[in-house]
Amino acid sequence: MQVYQLGEGVPEVAVVAGIHGDEPCGPRAVDRLLAAAPDVERPVKLIVANEAALEAGVRYTEEDLNRAFPGDPNGDTHESQLAHHLLAELEGCTVLALHSTQSTDEPFAVAETVDEIARAIVPHLSVTKLLQTEGLAEGRLIQHPHTIEVECGLQGTEAAAENGYRLVRGFLAATGALPVSASVDTGAEPAADGGYPEDERCADPNAAVDVFELIDPVPKPEAEEYEVFVENFTEVAVGERFAAADGEVFTADESFYPALMSPYGYADVFGYAADRAGVLTDWSV
Ligand SMILES: [Zn+2]
Repeated sequence: MQVYQLGEGVPEVAVVAGIHGDEPCGPRAVDRLLAAAPDVERPVKLIVANEAALEAGVRYTEEDLNRAFPGDPNGDTHESQLAHHLLAELEGCTVLALHSTQSTDEPFAVAETVDEIARAIVPHLSVTKLLQTEGLAEGRLIQHPHTIEVECGLQGTEAAAENGYRLVRGFLAATGALPVSASVDTGAEPAADGGYPEDERCADPNAAVDVFELIDPVPKPEAEEYEVFVENFTEVAVGERFAAADGEVFTADESFYPALMSPYGYADVFGYAADRAGVLTDWSV
């Protein structure tokens, strides 16, 4: 685990990259931010988590780090111990964790619940969708308070790395670590008065973030070849074919919105079925 810091003092804001070693967008965003070395208004911790998995180019070395929280300092696996040490680093911080996916190129946010942190941060993240995962899989980092995940796009793509950097800057603006005018990095230098040209400022917080609620995993049987026929976050009608395993086609018994669905993204599920739950601005906590 690499831990870096921008600014002086004890950080209450943190960015975590490289929880999965086959998702380079996050570490690239951290490298770029370190190289840019912006003047921060609050100290920020930047963490690259699973270096061993990143070096090997694999999701994890012994177990999925994002199912291993809270971890154990004497745990049996590298990731169990790492989960413990990572949580200790994140104590007292509001956290953005960067991921990428095989399911969609469109960035979206993920939160355990739609709480005040999600409502304050997600509208600044240049996403139009928030996936709420309450009570689904155990051992995930977002089960810990004050944590938002983002899916930056398709694993290994330039676009995901670019989105990751933009999402980090949006997060730092939302948490007051960067001025809002600097949250979109256009490469432009600030004017002598410290301001940015009007058209290069961050857009107003997005008023239209759709919230989707995870309902169930969509299991896949053991097979050699998998297909997924549907788009994430686009409703699948009753009777519609959504996936296949070795030619066996699966159709929807009930309508649902696919989330994180892909042929090979996960070992034993295609992804998840979600419901549309509303618009973020309408949420009362
Ligand atoms: Zn991931």
